[in-house]
Amino acid sequence: MKTEFDLELIQKYNRSGPRYTSYPTALQFSEAVDKAPIFDALGQAEGPLSLYFHIPFCQKLCWFCACNTIITTKQESADAYLDLLDKEAALWIQRTNRKRPVSQVHLGGGSPSFLSPEQIYKLGSILHSYFSVTKDAECGIELDPRSSTEAKAAALRDIGFNRVSIGIQESNTKVQKAINRIQPQELNQETVSYLRRLGFTSINVDLVYGLPYQTQESIRQTIVDVISLNPDRIATFNYAHVPWMKPAQKLLERTNALPEATEKLEMFRIIIEEFTAAGYVFIGMDHFAKPDDPLSVALKNKTLRRNFQGYSTGARTDILAMGISSISQSENAYFQNFKEMPEYRSKLESGQVPLAKGYVLTEEDQRRREIIMRLMCDFELDYEVVSKRIGVEMSNAYATELKSLESMQADGLLVMDSNGLWVTGKGRLLIRNIAMHFDAYLKFSEQRHSKTI
Ligand code: SF4
Repeated sequence: MKTEFDLELIQKYNRSGPRYTSYPTALQFSEAVDKAPIFDALGQAEGPLSLYFHIPFCQKLCWFCACNTIITTKQESADAYLDLLDKEAALWIQRTNRKRPVSQVHLGGGSPSFLSPEQIYKLGSILHSYFSVTKDAECGIELDPRSSTEAKAAALRDIGFNRVSIGIQESNTKVQKAINRIQPQELNQETVSYLRRLGFTSINVDLVYGLPYQTQESIRQTIVDVISLNPDRIATFNYAHVPWMKPAQKLLERTNALPEATEKLEMFRIIIEEFTAAGYVFIGMDHFAKPDDPLSVALKNKTLRRNFQGYSTGARTDILAMGISSISQSENAYFQNFKEMPEYRSKLESGQVPLAKGYVLTEEDQRRREIIMRLMCDFELDYEVVSKRIGVEMSNAYATELKSLESMQADGLLVMDSNGLWVTGKGRLLIRNIAMHFDAYLKFSEQRHSKTI
């Protein structure tokens, strides 16, 4: 499917909406929820398990950042935090089927590369003493070249990490100054070179568009710089300006140089054109991968999945997440840890798993989640296939939702017949808007999401 840019249609439909890394979204999570379902699911199931560890520390705040971070230069903060992660893992393991093989581990943040080599080994001992990580597990880390070193990367390899996601964002110095993140291309080159030397098998690069002073030229140069690093995957993010949630983003308003929506769209068009011209496959809403990368293979085989880390491959696994703000997930439940350190610490010190809130999915939620995820990953709904998966005849059960898509069909964003629904090249960029028709909660939460384009 070739992506087509129709500015008028994009402007017509562009509104706020979820990115659907989960359904229902985190806005539905509640404190008054019974925690038994997540403990039961993780304790009784036998299939592979994914682990997530949140390392919240960063030495300096990037002003565009929307992550849950703790800004500090005190290395010892991470020692105390690792002790808490150890406590949390010990509490979880009492409730988890210990024999479950761990097939994926993800270290996110913040900046996990904040950890010193000694702290990385401590994390490795938490990981391997409580869990059975398989030999071929995919173990990935989000790495900031500014805080990474070859010694840290070597320690990560020693404890089993084999994939890495590097934050680059944009290579222009004026943009970097405006977002308080100076990161020369030479540093990126040096980082990628030692990561490859050490045997990391998959390198992803994260980029952001829509930052102050970013222009079509700066985006083109960033793309050239990124391609020269030869990454396996690239993830591009539309900068979400949400200063009511992240007050530091107000600093970007002072530049008076945030690109207009149409300019951002033009940047995204350049991103798609340049990466696909360089041989990358456009995946989902905002990812690119080499044609032989597992993400591209999963796209072809319609086995792509979406989770809190974005697009992923492989069978669905339960996710056991540790650290502040992290979100665990089973077939029918999402649970999030406390976001603030004092509450997180106090729960652990009183011997409790630090879950703050969560959501238990009804069967109807699970059906809608499957429909939304198939749309976000495959850009189509084959009614026969989906009906089998959700256990009800989709075109009857969701006749109202499908009818509501007729105006989008008239605008050429999708095609429907009695067998299914196919998103067109024009509709691809509006996939979130199409998926929103199946979201039963949107009317309660729309204004709290970012714009879809
Ligand atoms: S390094 Fe990453 S997590 Fe930390 S402030 Fe910058 S963008 Fe946010």
